[in-house]
Amino acid sequence: MSFAPPPERVLSTLNPDGSRFTIHPRVSPGRFHAARRVVGYALIVLFVALPYVDVGGKPAILLDLYRREFTFVGATFRPADGFILMLFGLTVVLGVFLVTAIAGRVWCGWGCPQTVYLEWIFRPIERLLEGGPSQSRQLDERGGLSWRRTTKWAVYAALSFALAHTFLSYFVGASTVAQWVRSSPAIHPVGFGVVVAVTALMFFDFAYFREQTCVLACPYGRLQSVLLDEHSLIIGYDQRRGEPRGKAPGGKRGRAFPVVRDGAAPAGDCVDCNACVNTCPTGIDIRRGLQMECIGCAQCIDACDAIMDRLERPRGLIRYTAKSELAGRARRLLRPRVLVYPVALAVVVALFVVQVEARTQADVWVLRHDGAPFSSLDDGSISTPVRIKIENRSPATRVYRLELRDAPEVRAISPRPDYPLAPGATTVAPLFVISPRRAFVHGERPAQVVVSDDAGWHTTLDVTILGPESSP
Ligand code: SF4
Ligand code: SF4
Repeated sequence: MSFAPPPERVLSTLNPDGSRFTIHPRVSPGRFHAARRVVGYALIVLFVALPYVDVGGKPAILLDLYRREFTFVGATFRPADGFILMLFGLTVVLGVFLVTAIAGRVWCGWGCPQTVYLEWIFRPIERLLEGGPSQSRQLDERGGLSWRRTTKWAVYAALSFALAHTFLSYFVGASTVAQWVRSSPAIHPVGFGVVVAVTALMFFDFAYFREQTCVLACPYGRLQSVLLDEHSLIIGYDQRRGEPRGKAPGGKRGRAFPVVRDGAAPAGDCVDCNACVNTCPTGIDIRRGLQMECIGCAQCIDACDAIMDRLERPRGLIRYTAKSELAGRARRLLRPRVLVYPVALAVVVALFVVQVEARTQADVWVLRHDGAPFSSLDDGSISTPVRIKIENRSPATRVYRLELRDAPEVRAISPRPDYPLAPGATTVAPLFVISPRRAFVHGERPAQVVVSDDAGWHTTLDVTILGPESSP
């Protein structure tokens, strides 16, 4: 069965027959490439080092799934901090909205781990082992296994394995990963399984899937149409300056474009050299306008600037700009979304700080008793069980004590004198309240239990002591 070809190219990485068009972008050295390289390597160091950085005795970032805790620069949040975590998430989302509204996809091109690892580790290794884009394409066409490609894949697999350990450190802590590395996988099969799965995913991503992650899988790219407006910073082609495009005579320093179309000098500055297309890691032609696939890497700027230099024409045919500027209108820095997002962000951050500051050192609840509400003792007094649940929400181990505040003739019996609890740990502390039978009115009596810890924190709980309906 044959299918009619689509009327136009659907995706830059899709051939008309639906097969994958593999991209091997040409490197375009230039000022943005140099700056991105510095930022990229700095971020790689940061991403790898963060799980090892200690803030107040804890990793700088730890998303501990086993204990259900999130640690961020010294503060630990647990499920009971749901509202604070929601504010934290909202802060991140609003921050992304604000940065995108002002600076477009600067995160994708400059800071995203997918981009920095691919552009500054995996692609350089590919170029080192396979040569340039044409050699890689030849290897693609030849198919089969060559020593160059096999070596590249072996290095990729080793790097993915190492990065999978870093990834795991964000979830179980670097010290746990270090322990696991020194012991047999049979002792920690789940951790080992995660490392193997993440290694396979990373290998698949960096060896094969690559730009498809940005184009097809990442939701952020799909949100661009709503997050950007005509004044947001984008990378754009100046159509009014560049068109009509055509071949041009070379400049004094080089003569790469000798043909003058139709015998006349082209009116536009674009010489249709395709350097901007050949360097694009997502394979798009920026001259067709802003596209969802553009990750804002600025490689096309460097490529085009180099051509303009050779032609002795001004740089900036492709540049950081805004849609409004490209259309000949002034770019407005102050506009509703750029004002609303910071205000909303400031409110959410303030709420977040207030909530974090107001966090209690422990959560305590009175639990309902499952068995008989009270029992009669041999001497006629009444024993009423009370159960107090304590969760240590402080960052250190605390020792908790219970104290009953009641009438002088009432006493409390506790099976243990105190309850040491690690950070995040929970316990149920039982207390037996022994009261004279006559103390109850209509089968109950109010009392208070004071819960305190060894650091000076305390709270008072109102409890209802149950007993018989009437005195004998
Ligand atoms: S690199 Fe510049 S001159 Fe060459 S095709 Fe792209 S826009 Fe035109
Ligand atoms: S169009 Fe330019 S900025 Fe966008 S992804 Fe391609 S090379 Fe990078």
